[in-house]
Amino acid sequence: MSDSIAENVLNLDEDYHLVNPKNTIEVLKKYDIHFQKKYGQNFLIDSHVMNKIIKVADITKDDCVIEIGPGIGTMTQFLCESAGQVIAIEIDKALIPVLSDTLSRYDNVHVINGDVLKQDIKAISEEYNKGKPVKVVANLPYYITTPIIMGLFENEVPVESITVMVQKEVAERMQASPGTKAYGALSLAVQYYSKPYLAANVPENCFMPRPNVASAVINLKCYDTPPVTVKDVKLMFELVRAAFQQRRKTLINGIKNYSGIDISKECVIEALEKMGLDSNIRGETLTLEQFADLSNMLS
Ligand code: SAM
Repeated sequence: MSDSIAENVLNLDEDYHLVNPKNTIEVLKKYDIHFQKKYGQNFLIDSHVMNKIIKVADITKDDCVIEIGPGIGTMTQFLCESAGQVIAIEIDKALIPVLSDTLSRYDNVHVINGDVLKQDIKAISEEYNKGKPVKVVANLPYYITTPIIMGLFENEVPVESITVMVQKEVAERMQASPGTKAYGALSLAVQYYSKPYLAANVPENCFMPRPNVASAVINLKCYDTPPVTVKDVKLMFELVRAAFQQRRKTLINGIKNYSGIDISKECVIEALEKMGLDSNIRGETLTLEQFADLSNMLS
């Protein structure tokens, strides 16, 4: 992990908090919990990482936090200590009685048993935070990272920030710049809705069981107003999809071969000329501003 990790900011009870691996092992034994690979269960057992997440997410007692996938409650305990209110959404029914036990000290937490992708997060924030922006914090199940993040952005959930553990490679894609290998549709979507900051690289030994990929904590500060003005957001992201579907092709050919857009080659050439761009340009070199300009001209 990068050495900028903060020192402990919470007073940990060595006999209680699950971030102490001994306590995690005891709870797993007590409830006969077997890690569910299909749910991406890799529980955190490192207090430095935990404190780093709380610090980067800037959690205070004024905050209502939504945690996705509390597991046995390791990070939830940290969140309960730091936030005003915590809503934790866990899909695995077997973990609900465990959470009642491991979170019994706290009266500022509400656990929902369900699939986060099927929850109305907007309604949850309305119910628990009067519709004011919430902070989302999670050690995400990696198999659904993108749908979770895009769901939060696209469903107009009032979110102030998203601080999540993701696969390192995905974190790099989120903050990638034009022309790099990691730059793609995810980079543009994330950067349209938020300002990403890769806060820490996290090695495998901070989890139980160890994941077989490297991980990183990324903080996404959500914009009140996106950094570019776009007349038709749907069209802009169709253009982005067309550009990256065949990233080795020119943007014009990408658009021509993409079924989601019905715009003539001549119109695209004219728009690119007006923008001062070569007609042989590849989509992967365009900035967010250029995708916005192009979509505004074509809309
Ligand atoms: N927060 C815990 C920690 O840091 O130790 C556990 C994190 S683990 C990587 C991911 C958690 O998300 C698991 O508890 C898993 O059961 C849960 N999960 C997986 N898919 C989910 C879904 N669709 N909706 C809600 N929770 C889900």
